[in-house]
Amino acid sequence: MKVAGKNFLIGHTALELREWATGSGEAAFRGGQIAGWIYRNNVIAPEEMKNLPGALRTKLAETFHAPGTAVADETRSGDGTRKLLLRLADGETVEMVLIPGGDDRLTFCLSTQVGCPVRCRFCASGRDGLIRNLAAGEILEEYLLGIHAAGNRRPDNLVFMGIGEGLLNFDELAAALEALTDPERFGMSPRRITVSTSGYLPGMRRFAELGREYNLAISLHASDDATRARLIPDPLRYPVEEILAEADHYLERAGRMVTLEYTLLRGINDRPSDAERLARLARLHHAKINLIAYNETGGGEFSRPPRNVIENFEKIIADAGAHVTLRVERGGESAAACGQLRRMHREGKEKEK
Ligand code: SF4
Repeated sequence: MKVAGKNFLIGHTALELREWATGSGEAAFRGGQIAGWIYRNNVIAPEEMKNLPGALRTKLAETFHAPGTAVADETRSGDGTRKLLLRLADGETVEMVLIPGGDDRLTFCLSTQVGCPVRCRFCASGRDGLIRNLAAGEILEEYLLGIHAAGNRRPDNLVFMGIGEGLLNFDELAAALEALTDPERFGMSPRRITVSTSGYLPGMRRFAELGREYNLAISLHASDDATRARLIPDPLRYPVEEILAEADHYLERAGRMVTLEYTLLRGINDRPSDAERLARLARLHHAKINLIAYNETGGGEFSRPPRNVIENFEKIIADAGAHVTLRVERGGESAAACGQLRRMHREGKEKEK
């Protein structure tokens, strides 16, 4: 997919780059050198590819975005979480987050769309709907800019839980995943990659059909359809039962246990009966539960339940024998909630006008 009239250099295989080189009147081995810079050294700026002739570097820069994306801003929170605001080639913006973990682990959280068509009512990213899909090259540039920000360090884990419903941008996401896991390109294990979905059924089926060991996280947020309807509007909301049947299919096809993401919202989905039903469903469908204490973004109709309610909710699930973890959102104090940094910038700009 082209953006602002150009394709992206990142993502091409060595074979494609050799073909491009010969088609441009260069020796084929130059394509292998370019692939080496990208996939071994994390370099895509042609001016840094020191063993290429100057004319070839110029040609590369003219032909491709290399890169098309730049870091426009960054916020850091006390726990070391860093959020980058990325400006795309056409001026749109997305966010990616670098999340440190125990044992010196590093996780990147990537976006897949500019805005989001699902428009979950508690989410800043979905407020304005979808602006456009990201190209595979843009998703890969997010990954690369994260590596540069981390001091040329590759992440241990990748999660697609940033802005957007990735499975609604299936072809570009699948192409990016292919480049990330191809041993000749970035060579990451699919088991270290998690794709999150709001439960978009047609995309879940296609994702299962890839037959790869990616992790799938389903943002369920409610264990019954009536409560879910208060959080996720039509037409992109599917029945809980059908989503979980599709999760069964994923487990069968990919051999990976699915995670049910559940954002706890005060007075909405935090009753003991919600916990009991959620635990029952998780056990029935061999899924893990990840509870997320809602990150209050200021204003809005939702709030985080008190600590004792959160702890009791977790305990009910654990006592019922389901696998449960609790994530207290990191970086709340630095606009690290999904979509906030981007929104802050846009609102700032509008005020300037
Ligand atoms: S929570 Fe995810 S799916 Fe829902 S609007 Fe936000 S980005 Fe989209």
